[in-house]
Amino acid sequence: MTTAALRQLPSVDRILNEPAIQALMPFYGHRLVVTAIRRTLDGVREEVRAGGRPPTPEEVVARAAAYLQGHLAPTLKPVINATGVIIHTNLGRAPLSAAARAAMDAVARGYSNLEYDLPAGRRGHRTVHAERLLCELTGAEAALVVNNNAGAVLLALTVLAQGRGVLISRGQLIEIGGGFRIPEVMAQSGARLVEVGTTNRTHRRDYERALAEEPDIALILHAHSSNFRIVGFTAEVGLPELVELGGAHGIPVMADLGSGALLDTAAFGLAHEPTAQESVAAGAAVVCFSGDKLLGGPQAGIIVGQARFVDPMKRHPLARALRADKLCLAGLQATLMHYLRDEATEQIPVWRMIAAPVEELDRRARRWRRALQRAGIRAEVADGHSTVGGGSLPGETLPTRLLALPLPDPDRVAAALRRHDPPVVARIEEGRLVLDPRTVLPEEEPALLGALINTIR
Ligand SMILES: *Cc1c(COP(=O)(O)O)cnc(C)c1O
Repeated sequence: MTTAALRQLPSVDRILNEPAIQALMPFYGHRLVVTAIRRTLDGVREEVRAGGRPPTPEEVVARAAAYLQGHLAPTLKPVINATGVIIHTNLGRAPLSAAARAAMDAVARGYSNLEYDLPAGRRGHRTVHAERLLCELTGAEAALVVNNNAGAVLLALTVLAQGRGVLISRGQLIEIGGGFRIPEVMAQSGARLVEVGTTNRTHRRDYERALAEEPDIALILHAHSSNFRIVGFTAEVGLPELVELGGAHGIPVMADLGSGALLDTAAFGLAHEPTAQESVAAGAAVVCFSGDKLLGGPQAGIIVGQARFVDPMKRHPLARALRADKLCLAGLQATLMHYLRDEATEQIPVWRMIAAPVEELDRRARRWRRALQRAGIRAEVADGHSTVGGGSLPGETLPTRLLALPLPDPDRVAAALRRHDPPVVARIEEGRLVLDPRTVLPEEEPALLGALINTIR
């Protein structure tokens, strides 16, 4: 019985000729489609041997197609971010400007002078590419770009303090998302952590005492508490004062800014996020920050500062392991040019979103509401708040206008939107599904409205 049932199962070739399978060929190619059919039939044979019913050819086709989509399809894909969180780490942080994308495409297509000195006709250095622009923007003497800011902090601590002591306030022993914890990075670098002060209050005299009592201090680290805020009875020593204190003892100060803005967030109704320029001007020996947070560029770790501290980092073996790739450097250069041309708030998506006036967001939310109403879906426009995210400006919000959908089952619709192609990530607030136009790119609007109409109707 089982043998007969097994013999009746369709062959790979039989399934391969089904139109529904042929339709998958242009995207997946012959090899993956055959793999999916074989694995599906293997599974079917097991089931039949165990006494299961032999499936029809149509069922085999459907299962093979599902296997392709579930196991062999590329998983990283664009998502529409309607959450209103501008720098959303889970959603890939900063969308890139048109110029940054074009620069990346240009170097991706062919060869480039990544490590080639064209005038001299010999080997050059990849570290030169974004350096001059970073120095011009921040006022620093030297700059280095690595893979991400966690790498920048690790490299800087390794080069400046391996085997020696690093002072840091207990209020700055931070953990940011994704497993980056200052004490652990410190341990990785081989530096010795010397905690100063208390969780909520650290004073100048705490640093002075540590400098007097602790042997072999190489560095004072100032880490920006980017993703939380201590309120109430608090005190921290600011970067300028730390630099002055360190200077009196011949100890350099490093600032880990995290987000590292180049523009003043206070101009947009937010709290002031420390800028790279002011940290350099305060006299920090080394300043490091991310490329894909408030800078609005590709994933990168940026190190700027005094040449005598930054240059040795370029020669350290760890710099080779953490080096930035050509796509990153191309995108970063183009992003930095927006700042130099004074067009960051028009050209860099993160800043365009921060600067978007509430009237514009209101117009967009109303347009969305009209489009849904035409499709018979009831929606409202409501006041709400967007956040900057990306471990910057905790507790700070930007007023926005939301499209709010009063639905009987908002969780189910939110889940269906996440499974849609393209996926849409929305928010649920007070039992309503809400979508924030601030983080939706204008060119994504038709797809967003299509997804809502498909999902809700
Ligand atoms: C985000 C952040 C980092 C890590 O930066 P990545 O670019 O994500 O590696 C390090 N320090 C602080 C204070 C941060 O906010």
